[in-house]
Amino acid sequence: MITIFYTTMKILLTCALALLLCLNAKAQTSTNYPLDRVMPAPQRVVAMFKDDGMKPFVHELTAADKEKVEQAFAILPPLHQRILKKHLHSITFLDSMPNTALTADADTAKALKTFDIIFRAGILKESLSDFATWKENTGFDSSGNSGFSVEVNAGVTNALQYVLLHEATHIVDKVLDLTPSVHDMNASFSHTPSTMGIWQHHTKVAKQFNLPTLEKSRFRSGNLLPVQFASEVYRDLNKTPFPSLYATSNWHDDIAELLAIYHMTKKLKQPYFVVVKQNGRVVYKYEPMKNQLVKKRLKQLDMFYNS
Ligand SMILES: [Zn+2]
Repeated sequence: MITIFYTTMKILLTCALALLLCLNAKAQTSTNYPLDRVMPAPQRVVAMFKDDGMKPFVHELTAADKEKVEQAFAILPPLHQRILKKHLHSITFLDSMPNTALTADADTAKALKTFDIIFRAGILKESLSDFATWKENTGFDSSGNSGFSVEVNAGVTNALQYVLLHEATHIVDKVLDLTPSVHDMNASFSHTPSTMGIWQHHTKVAKQFNLPTLEKSRFRSGNLLPVQFASEVYRDLNKTPFPSLYATSNWHDDIAELLAIYHMTKKLKQPYFVVVKQNGRVVYKYEPMKNQLVKKRLKQLDMFYNS
């Protein structure tokens, strides 16, 4: 038994080492980055979607799509660029996939910290305003004739830029442990500057930010909020350090949303604000980068540009 165990361990270590050398060699020698990372979807991911009744299929990138992919990688902050060259195993674009994007461990033993990102191909054709408006509305029940609507104004930049920023931040987070990777509520852990004073645990916001309407939003409760409560929920959001409703779901998405919105607005000079309208008239506007509590967190983001 022991011999089999050691032999198995040896094979696993040899495979891991070979993969590591292969990835390092790829990072150092490839001149076709990031397009050299475009690959068919990992089988386990396709199987997962099929279990959910979906039939996703690989989207063949056109020349115009490839340009958008290159552009989305080119605008990433310097730290993202360095980490992704080493830790991004593959990217895949799928048609007929349920969510917008997902980042998964490529090395299931998690020793190498390499990752696959799978994107819904449709985002290649969407502006960030259209994408963000759609995403924001997935949290609201707009049936009935309330007269209320929610829109996000984020300019005409291709949505992939934002989605890649968000997913790539998950990779930087996992590689550098920007947020604790502890999910067991009973396990001990140490807060990081990204979570201290903002979160109690990975899905539990600090007590002072536990606000009534915010807790009823889809990203906190799992339920749709009637759209007529939209002004109230964004008023609540403005009393917290969270840059978006999605950011309130867990500490990993909080840092990903914070970096993505900061980079799009402050570095790429694009707009990003949510408006609630009643019968076409703006009744509330939430602009995350003007939220005083969000602003206090921005100094932490220097590390993405200076380290
Ligand atoms: Zn995310």
